[in-house]
Amino acid sequence: MVVDGAVAFDAGSLAMAADDHLRSSVRDVVISHAHLDHIAGLPLFIDDLFSELTEPVRIHGLASVIQVLEEHIFNWSIYPRFSELTNKHGKVIEYLEFEPGESFSVKHLSVLPVEVNHRVPSCGFVINDGASTIAVTGDTAPTDLFWQTVNSLPSLNALIIECAFPNELSELAAISHHLTPSGLSKELTKLERTDCRIYVSNLKPTYRDEIVRELDGLRPDGLEVLTVARDYIW
Ligand SMILES: [Zn+2]
Repeated sequence: MVVDGAVAFDAGSLAMAADDHLRSSVRDVVISHAHLDHIAGLPLFIDDLFSELTEPVRIHGLASVIQVLEEHIFNWSIYPRFSELTNKHGKVIEYLEFEPGESFSVKHLSVLPVEVNHRVPSCGFVINDGASTIAVTGDTAPTDLFWQTVNSLPSLNALIIECAFPNELSELAAISHHLTPSGLSKELTKLERTDCRIYVSNLKPTYRDEIVRELDGLRPDGLEVLTVARDYIW
């Protein structure tokens, strides 16, 4: 997801989906966690841009996520260790650590990372651009802190919640710390506000139709499935 054409949140498909405009405008990537479907496009994005970067791509992440990237991705075996390389303009990547619960600035955005409940250290985000606020769970199983945080915000324009598996795969969802439509509807009972639009994301492609049918069955008012490659204005 790219916010305001400038800041990417996760990079699962960043290199594959970015057009020329995004290739030239995105220099900040905020990573929720180190699972491959959230970082797969990051090495390729940097590689594509390597010789033309006039400033480093800034990778914002938990310390543990940055450590995983350095040990398991940018380790010379899987991909070059870009942190040791420069082009004629200087560094090509820069790591910036954030702490859960501590807001940080990225470009014009204020970003609050909120720890969620996944198999690995993982954060959702509350993102404010000075005019609108959105909240994104990222990958998570049932969680409480995220909802407490969202309920305490002065305003919220859009909420994006994950739903990876259909109800029949609830055991797999539990093992992998994801939500099903049934779990999502329980999570939404923790939401104490009605001022935001609600979107569902992270549906596993194989089960997309089944998940959508199940979401239709329980449909809280205004629930929409987030569409890939579409611009949203909130
Ligand atoms: Zn994950």
